[in-house]
Amino acid sequence: MFCIFCKILSGEAPATIIYRDELVTALRDIHPIARTHILVIPNRHIDSVNTLNPDDDLLVGHMVLVAKELAAKEGVAENGYRLIINTGAHGGQTVPHLHLHLIAGRLARFLLG
Ligand code: AMP
Ligand code: ZN
Repeated sequence: MFCIFCKILSGEAPATIIYRDELVTALRDIHPIARTHILVIPNRHIDSVNTLNPDDDLLVGHMVLVAKELAAKEGVAENGYRLIINTGAHGGQTVPHLHLHLIAGRLARFLLG
């Protein structure tokens, strides 16, 4: 199965990676809808929230905490930001590899479809 985020994680596709640890990677969205638009993705392929297991709780919590740290690093923590996980076709999910959007600043277009 082709997955662009897995290709990025393996180094086969380019991306602006700004953070990486043993569980997650953060990269700049290729089509940012606001000044800060970062994606936090798990390092192993998970299709979506729908395929999370009970023992993924640490991973999901970690994704949120990494987003919080990146918001501080980007200087947007005080003014605020959005954390969004789109799920499935009707949820606006276009890349079938779980990802958390960190979006801050005035939106350039309406929220992700
Ligand atoms: P979603 O619609 O929630 O599935 O979000 C997918 C996001 O991935 C969109 O905001 C895309 O702009 C972004 N995206 C797709 N391909 C890439 C890529 N190669 N590098 C960085 N971001 C990407
Ligand atoms: Zn993947």
